[in-house]
Amino acid sequence: MILKKIYEKLTLLGDRMAFVGEDSCTYRELGELAAGAVMMLRQIPESTPVILYGGKCAAMLGWMLGCTFAGLPYVPVDSRTPTGRLEIIQAEVGAGRIIDTRQIEIKKAALSDTSIVENVGRTVYVIMTSGSSGKPKGVAVSEANLDAFCDRYHHWMGDASVSLGHASFAFDLSVADIYPTLAGGGCLYSIPADMVENSTLMRDFVLASECERLVMTPSFARLLLTEPSFRKDRLSSLNSVFFCGEVLPAKTVLRLWERFPGLRIVNAYGPTECTVATHAIEITADMTDRVLPAGIADDSVFIENGEIILGGRQIALGYLGNLQSKAFFERDGKRFYRTGDRGRICGSLLYIDGRLDRQLKLQGYRIEPGEIEQVLLSLAGVSAAAVFALHDRTGMPRSLCSAVVCSGEIEALTDELKKRLPMYMIPTLHKLDKLPMNANGKCDYAKLEAAYGKQ
Ligand code: AMP
Repeated sequence: MILKKIYEKLTLLGDRMAFVGEDSCTYRELGELAAGAVMMLRQIPESTPVILYGGKCAAMLGWMLGCTFAGLPYVPVDSRTPTGRLEIIQAEVGAGRIIDTRQIEIKKAALSDTSIVENVGRTVYVIMTSGSSGKPKGVAVSEANLDAFCDRYHHWMGDASVSLGHASFAFDLSVADIYPTLAGGGCLYSIPADMVENSTLMRDFVLASECERLVMTPSFARLLLTEPSFRKDRLSSLNSVFFCGEVLPAKTVLRLWERFPGLRIVNAYGPTECTVATHAIEITADMTDRVLPAGIADDSVFIENGEIILGGRQIALGYLGNLQSKAFFERDGKRFYRTGDRGRICGSLLYIDGRLDRQLKLQGYRIEPGEIEQVLLSLAGVSAAAVFALHDRTGMPRSLCSAVVCSGEIEALTDELKKRLPMYMIPTLHKLDKLPMNANGKCDYAKLEAAYGKQ
């Protein structure tokens, strides 16, 4: 359904702008890129995953749509990903192809010469997320999952003529931007990664977009709020924000309303394994004196032993290569996913109370400390490692640390980590003679956090 809608828009909207990021394109150009990609992908047997390595450019979008039209699952990998990690992803996914979208030029073709492979059960994309067992894991999402998400998103947000997001195309938050925007005939503005590090360029990009909607994490909103000109008289077009991915503090909402009175703010919740977001709620002023809810409970969510369990049409197919993972289960003929999130339902409101495991969100990035520990342990000279986050006064994780017992120098270890992990997963390393143990003989993370948090 959603792919058909996009195909129609590519056919009909001609010179209307479809995308602005590192470069830009119209609907006609995007259609020609997608069709060209379909032609170039012809030799690859249906259902073979294709790794798309790239940034936020029209060609990357063209390859992504080309894969979906051709019936090939794509695995988006950000071009800033170090090659060491890319190799691990390739081994995990067993990908038939890696396409470096910056190197392989698409020979444009006529969209009318292509059609869409129809099979809603097939995998449409695979998003790689941090894995506690030491390797990234791939979440396989079907076209039916994507359709279900887009229906829900449309119900929550409606259409936007210009939607602006910051998430890398390798993260599922970008799905909330790309598919609904293109299916609604809007223009997708996507902030290029290197611009995020330059506040002047980023501000100019955001203001010039004249966006109606922002799709972002609360961390990104805090970054935007450091720019004084991010306010209604400079961006009067902005009328709604879709938040997802991490805790939305009431303070962030109040600061946004100071700059943009009357702004519609929606807080959405869901893991990648349930296709971007399954629940959402519009935040109103009367909610802002306490912890904000993250959704309105319905029959697709329940709490079991304090854990949020999700069901319904958005539950992904599973992890690639491990479709039998215990996190996905069936009950009474229906599929469910154990989120690992602690939660409560009060009246009809869904609240998130943290995690049951060590997974954390840092600046919106999902991180399994266990994955970083495994990578550290695989390095020569490292005999023990404990990765933990330092929190700010409000209890939000703000930086990543690791205690390591090793024979070599910390700087050399950090350099090795950078070859294997993305920058947001590189902790500040502290060399110890041994890790502190608790009474159960396990690493005492609380002690480490307390010790380094004070520094
Ligand atoms: P990801 O798979 O990267 O989308 O991360 C999903 C996880 O982010 C969830 O399992 C939650 O732990 C957290 N999360 C997502 N949305 C929210 C929210 N609105 N409030 C609190 N935590 C959230």
